[in-house]
Amino acid sequence: MIPLPLSTIAELTGGTLADGTGDREVTGPVVIDSRQAVPGALFAAFRGERADGHDFAAAAYEAGAAAVLAERPVGGPAVLVDDVERALGELARGVLDRLPEVTVTGITGSSGKTSTKDLIAQVVGSAGPTIAPPGSFNNEIGLPLTVLRADAGTRHLVLEMGARGIGHIAYLAGIARPGVGVVLNVGTAHLGEFGGREGIAKAKGELAEAVPPGGTVILNADDPLVAAMTSRTEAAVVTFGRSARADVRAADERLDDTGRPRFTLVTPEGAAPVELLLHGSHAVSNALAAAAVGRAAGLDAAAVAAALSQARPASRWRMEVTERADGVTVVNDAYNANPESTRAAVDVLAHMARGRRAFAVLGEMAELGTESAVEHAKIGQHVARSGIAGLVVVGANAAAMAEGADQVASWTGECVQVDDVGAAVTALSGRLRPRDVVLVKGSRVAGMERIAQALLQEG
Ligand code: ATP
Ligand code: MG
Repeated sequence: MIPLPLSTIAELTGGTLADGTGDREVTGPVVIDSRQAVPGALFAAFRGERADGHDFAAAAYEAGAAAVLAERPVGGPAVLVDDVERALGELARGVLDRLPEVTVTGITGSSGKTSTKDLIAQVVGSAGPTIAPPGSFNNEIGLPLTVLRADAGTRHLVLEMGARGIGHIAYLAGIARPGVGVVLNVGTAHLGEFGGREGIAKAKGELAEAVPPGGTVILNADDPLVAAMTSRTEAAVVTFGRSARADVRAADERLDDTGRPRFTLVTPEGAAPVELLLHGSHAVSNALAAAAVGRAAGLDAAAVAAALSQARPASRWRMEVTERADGVTVVNDAYNANPESTRAAVDVLAHMARGRRAFAVLGEMAELGTESAVEHAKIGQHVARSGIAGLVVVGANAAAMAEGADQVASWTGECVQVDDVGAAVTALSGRLRPRDVVLVKGSRVAGMERIAQALLQEG
């Protein structure tokens, strides 16, 4: 963070300095956990469901925190505000205003935000000092905390923006004011809350609206609801995708034997070969989005292709491929699931299997609202049509997958339904043979990573 006097923090957040504490400088970082406080830090006191950060102010001072951002006096140097969450956003905005050389890239979409954020960070990281959040830090707290890590040396800030409702992205973009906005796809994620894909498109498109003239909006040419966002921005639009119309596209796309994509990156200025270390054809779409951001940062096709070819999966449980000593390959994609990402993962599994037996171990895809049973059944059908040897359906909320698989008369595979993660491990242990390939996937609530971990411990 850039050093700021408390009086400036009070000014930026519309807060007041706690009586008698005087002005002093905060050198950062900004933390929301008192255990992470270090000398010079600003501790933002959040009232959570279980604990109230205000109760930990003393611990933060003890650790050397210069001040606390709080909603009531906490017995030490503090900036007092009405709403700490809002103040954190205002502070982040104020810091960015003092860092005009930082290019902010915002990313949204139903699937692949974190994966693409990691790719973009690795691509623009080759052009200059870059800050990107760990994991999925994409909400009203994680985003400003990431912004606040920027300092005078930072050139690129790469931010994931999640939308749980209309107005969320607009709020996040109001803090970060991205000069580059990337919209990946409009899927069925959180369909229940938005009441339909049009609702999701409306929310995601707030990012396109937020990018000012002079900026760049990067849109997926393969997703009609995303491509239509062209009409919602006055910024320059660059499209990416497999379609021949896309400005940044992939040619000669294929998967190697382990499911890693190879393709030629084609841009208006030139082309270059890419060999991804990531798995699955959906990684190509994310890589193209990252290439378009790299291009906007002034990198040529060869530089972008080189950075993409070195990029390693930075966030866990997303298509993590591990081979056991007995040759069983475990594909751990248990971080999350929705219909699009599950279909993509099943396709990778089918591709990797070639000549080997494949098992899909699938838990529920949450937040699908009234579409839930239909979407689960479609996945079951997809698995059966992909010629996969075994489908293990985990948990009652995923049961419709089994019904879907049963509807495919030509399928010769086996479907097993189990109640929970433990039963899934038992069912698999009795069935797996050397060289089998197992995909493990489900929504976060399903906790499917425990299956992958147990399988790897057994091997
Ligand atoms: P969240 O909303 O939970 O933060 P996210 O949008 O950040 O999710 P990732 O964490 O990158 O998404 O990926 C989630 C899942 O979607 C993973 O299983 C991943 O393999 C898959 N996935 C990644 N990119 C795509 C894509 N372009 N299309 C479909 N599925 C994808
Ligand atoms: Mg994420």
